[in-house]
Amino acid sequence: MNDVNSFPQALTIAGTDSGGGAGIMADMKTMQECGVFSTAVVVAVTAQNTIGVQNFQAISPKLISEQFASLNDDFKIKACKTGMLADAEHVEVVYDNLKKYDFGPFVLDPVMIAKGGSQLLSDEGIDAIKNKLIKLATLVTPNMPEAERLIGSKIESQSGMLVAAKKIQDLGAKNVLIKGGHGDSEMVRDVVLLENGESFKMSSKRVHTIRTHGTGDTISSAIVSRLALGDDMKSAILYGKDFVEAAIKNTIQVGHGHGPLNHWA
Ligand code: PLP
Repeated sequence: MNDVNSFPQALTIAGTDSGGGAGIMADMKTMQECGVFSTAVVVAVTAQNTIGVQNFQAISPKLISEQFASLNDDFKIKACKTGMLADAEHVEVVYDNLKKYDFGPFVLDPVMIAKGGSQLLSDEGIDAIKNKLIKLATLVTPNMPEAERLIGSKIESQSGMLVAAKKIQDLGAKNVLIKGGHGDSEMVRDVVLLENGESFKMSSKRVHTIRTHGTGDTISSAIVSRLALGDDMKSAILYGKDFVEAAIKNTIQVGHGHGPLNHWA
């Protein structure tokens, strides 16, 4: 019989960005570019542009659960990710739904603070990720400040990144990618710790640009796309790194601030 769901499908569970550069918009553009059909559960709506987040409002937990049910009734989701989750109540409702349905490997991007400084997840929400949602994660992808918040201490060095990755793995995530892009060193160094204990670094020359809005969303969505297409975790992460690097390098001139990436680079 003809399989109505043979085309690879992925899901993003996150917040919108009216400016088109981050959140669900960046996720869907990235997934499209990676050859995967993208679906979305909207957790929050932001009023946002390249300059910053002016306001946001979270969607009711009931409507969030209804979005999950709608997707489960019709699609065959092969991999999923979370982004902006707003607060503890919304982390909990996402946790409940991810336990209920099988949407394949789950990439948790623990979005906390936007580059413009807006807090996209409350302190209680961070605790709910740490104590609950992270236990469902196939991969978690914190940047340095997010990793420090998850382990509750400063990361001082390269070897410190690996120690931090192990501590984050101990919180319950199977695989960990700590992104080094938030520093100011000439080389950006990311650290990966895989489920089987293997670890490796990914290095790239820093691209000096302020147009880095949505980098975290983009790398996690590229990884999710490759997982939906059947890649193993290591290949998917390496692909994601290359994808986001190209998207940063091939800057486009849109907006006055932190600028969107070039997702079709
Ligand atoms: N807005 C939303 C809805 C997001 O999900 C994110 C990041 O994940 C951001 C804004 C922040 O983007 P950036 O910090 O890259 O500017």
